[in-house]
Amino acid sequence: MHEIILEAFGKINLSLDVLHRRPDGYHELNTIMQQIDLKDTIILKELEKGIKIECNHEGVPLDNSNLVYKAWEKIVEKTGINKGVHIIIDKKIPVASGLAGGSANGAAVLKGLNTLWNLNLSYEELKDIGLEIGADVPFCIMGGTAHAKGIGEKLTKLRSFSNKMVLLANVGIPISTAYVYENLNLKDINSRIDIDKMLEYIEDDNLPKLAENMANVMEQVVIKEYPIIDEIKKDMIRYGALGSMMSGSGPTVFGLFDDEEKLYRCKNELEKRIKNVFIAKTV
Ligand code: ATP
Repeated sequence: MHEIILEAFGKINLSLDVLHRRPDGYHELNTIMQQIDLKDTIILKELEKGIKIECNHEGVPLDNSNLVYKAWEKIVEKTGINKGVHIIIDKKIPVASGLAGGSANGAAVLKGLNTLWNLNLSYEELKDIGLEIGADVPFCIMGGTAHAKGIGEKLTKLRSFSNKMVLLANVGIPISTAYVYENLNLKDINSRIDIDKMLEYIEDDNLPKLAENMANVMEQVVIKEYPIIDEIKKDMIRYGALGSMMSGSGPTVFGLFDDEEKLYRCKNELEKRIKNVFIAKTV
């Protein structure tokens, strides 16, 4: 039987600004997205028909709300192929954590089915299908480092910012992106994040400057509800991170490091009170 093994990498936002709410209800973003090597592994096995999803994490739905289901459904709809698939997800990326685990899974399955069934869909076609599944899916298909505008679909690939040390701390409270948008008071934001400056720092591979200037407008909503997010950020800095920020709509906090010893010391300190602490590298 035909089968294929896929890697689905998570992401962090190196800065995230929400510009305004559009008439269609979506929010216009200006953000820098960075893939990290914290990953889920996905196995695709051919089935005669239908779809079967398995996952080792109880927070992941196994029905048609799973983004891997939507990926299969879209591929069937667009190409007319009449085949089924058994999808096994080994979940390592914390769920509803601001690390785009679901989107990464959807992206991996789109690419994986394209290969498994020799569909010859182009990279652009895959990104367009991805956008119908979720705003972060086109980035997950592209990977690496990107400047994202629109709802996340207007992507510009940036110079590689790979191999930077990242410490991730997840307090284990799932936060829905919709909740954060609903509670984001855009009128309260009186200064915009200078994303253009951040793009320059990436172009110059200037990790310290980038880390020091990172900002995420969604933090205000989440920190108000969960002050622990701010405490973790401060701890990261205290133990040697060059900069620390919440990723996406949270609640995962990450720190960027240039010193391995400090990274491990910080990890040990945080692990005394936080459940999930991971070391990763930018891809
Ligand atoms: P983003 O940063 O894109 O907002 P996130 O990391 O905050 O994403 P996900 O881990 O993608 O959040 O999960 C959000 C919700 O999506 C989950 O609560 C779950 O119900 C649903 N979901 C659907 N498919 C998946 C999947 N394959 N893996 C994880 N969650 C999934």
